[in-house]
Amino acid sequence: MYPAAFIDAVLERMHEAPEREAFRDGRGAVARGELFAASGRFAYGLLQQGVRSGDRMLLGLPPDRRHVVALIGALRLGVVVVPLHPKAKLREVQHVLWDAGPRVVCAESALADLVRASSAAVRALDVEALAAPAPRPGDADEIELATEHAGAAARPDDRALILYTSGTTGKPKGALHTQGSLAANTAALRAAWRMGPDDRLVHCLPLHHLHGLVVGVLNCLAAGTPFSLEADFDAERVLARLVESRATLFFGVPAMYARLVAAAERREVAAAAPLVPDSMRLFVSGSAPLAPALKREFERRFGHAILERYGATEMGIALSQSPDEARPAGAVGRPLDGVETKVVAVEGAGTANSDEGELWVTGPSLFRGYFDDEEATAKALQDGWYRTGDLVRREDDGSFRILGRLSTDLIKVKGHRVGALEVEAALAEHPSVAEAAVVGAPDEECGEVPVAFVRLRDPALTPEELLEFARAVLAPYQVPRRVVIVDELPRTGPGKVDKKSLQARARGG
Ligand code: AMP
Repeated sequence: MYPAAFIDAVLERMHEAPEREAFRDGRGAVARGELFAASGRFAYGLLQQGVRSGDRMLLGLPPDRRHVVALIGALRLGVVVVPLHPKAKLREVQHVLWDAGPRVVCAESALADLVRASSAAVRALDVEALAAPAPRPGDADEIELATEHAGAAARPDDRALILYTSGTTGKPKGALHTQGSLAANTAALRAAWRMGPDDRLVHCLPLHHLHGLVVGVLNCLAAGTPFSLEADFDAERVLARLVESRATLFFGVPAMYARLVAAAERREVAAAAPLVPDSMRLFVSGSAPLAPALKREFERRFGHAILERYGATEMGIALSQSPDEARPAGAVGRPLDGVETKVVAVEGAGTANSDEGELWVTGPSLFRGYFDDEEATAKALQDGWYRTGDLVRREDDGSFRILGRLSTDLIKVKGHRVGALEVEAALAEHPSVAEAAVVGAPDEECGEVPVAFVRLRDPALTPEELLEFARAVLAPYQVPRRVVIVDELPRTGPGKVDKKSLQARARGG
């Protein structure tokens, strides 16, 4: 069993071994006991500012110790954390301010100024003190005061986190997670991946999404797994950090794995030093489809089969491959502990086969709805089931394949259903292709036709040559009508291709 409130798992780790490293940033290691003391001080500071359990706090600090201290301090007090990108632009800031109604903001001056300029009601916290987590005399009293004021212990239904969706469809919505949903999801993950104090994660994901914040930071703190917080993703730096920290875990999105492969290619020419330490246990990928060609190439160069998992802001991580089993390309594994799934036929999607359809998910890891938005909540949650909007196939062994998003990846060509991901995977098999994204464009004769946007590894490849390659491996209706070569694919968030904007480009001819 796991503690019913997420924060209790973190506090348990702090009490059982305060001297062990909780995490490290560019300034060095922070012990669990130091994090306990500093987060207690932060909670006390919040109380002095009049912030109470249930109030919202915008957290927009860069990935360093101050972020973790503020995050845990707020959660200990029952304050609802609303993470925001440290470089969020005015429009996003205004939307989140209006939607979440925070009482305080914890951010560096640029973001704090934006917040202040947009709302006089939000107070900016002084973040300087957060940089020194070492215990000070009198800390014990402050912590006691803080926890005493915080009132009763955390309950599973207490609100904990509002995570804004990447906003591919309309305005970003704030998915509300509770102490209970975070406890369930992190417990299921650490059981599935067998995470513990002997692991070490190299962490370079942004901290305002589920992946970096929940799967990375919160999950590690609850598992007692130390992690190295990187300022951002840099392939060369990550490779160096994996070796120097004797890492066991790395969590990334497919675009990061593509850059690691490119870095490995450069190294092959430069030096023959081992790419990863023998301590390395799991490279995990998620948030977007991992092309089989990339998975294969990574395995060839790094000697590790990437483990795939699938989730969403609203449901946490729902499916994962197992470290103990084969990890076939294109598959994302089975439901985690406590997760229930059903595959629902989709009208017009050609899902006559009962194992193909939209994936619906339920279980204790699910969000509790969009913050203050009953209408959007009612659309996403039906009788307690979250409608993922993803088309999937369930295999005989109970594992799943993601066929794509219903809104963008299902292309209907003369009555045939074409899955964009399948075409993308086929194009990515060409050795000169780095990445491909396929969308549908309206067509008078066929209804819709696939259009491919491709980033090349070798600029000598022409669209016609790639089409010829495609004709040899795809059914005629799957072959893209056009191939557009691009320098970069547009993205909406970490690793996610912005298919809506590609659809608009494809429509525009
Ligand atoms: P977000 O809430 O922004 O993390 O987006 C969740 C969506 O990302 C899911 O509904 C899927 O469409 C997609 N996604 C997440 N993980 C995977 C994966 N392993 N393979 C393919 N798509 C994924």
